[in-house]
Amino acid sequence: GLRDDEPDTLFNKILAGEIPASIVKEDGKILAFKDINPAAPAHVLVIPKDRDGLTRLSKSTPEHYEILGRLMVAAGEIAKDESLGFGDGARIVINDGAKAGQEVFHLHVHVLGGRDFNWPPG
Ligand code: 5GP
Repeated sequence: GLRDDEPDTLFNKILAGEIPASIVKEDGKILAFKDINPAAPAHVLVIPKDRDGLTRLSKSTPEHYEILGRLMVAAGEIAKDESLGFGDGARIVINDGAKAGQEVFHLHVHVLGGRDFNWPPG
């Protein structure tokens, strides 16, 4: 769809510091910050700093192996960070496309915790 090809998203404004965000982890390649509308007591988003075509996960190619690994490792580290409200057990989610609930077309990994989760997710 058209929105997959958005030149920019609000995450660029967060990356540029133009919209404030509560940053929990950052390195040269990724940024993690608290979700503004948390769906669980702990809810962090992990994004690549360079979107590099990754409007959504299904746009990924072997060129993205490295950044996707970095996002997954960061998500796993965040998921065990008790200072952020995570305990034993987290839900790690990527919404791929509007039908799956994706609203921001800059790939992001949701890390949710601090409560129990049902499966299947509905
Ligand atoms: P999606 O629905 O695309 O998978 O997830 C987008 C997420 O971004 C939502 O959970 C939403 O609450 C979060 N979000 C939207 N705008 C902002 C914002 O300005 N700041 C932060 N921190 N999160 C946002």
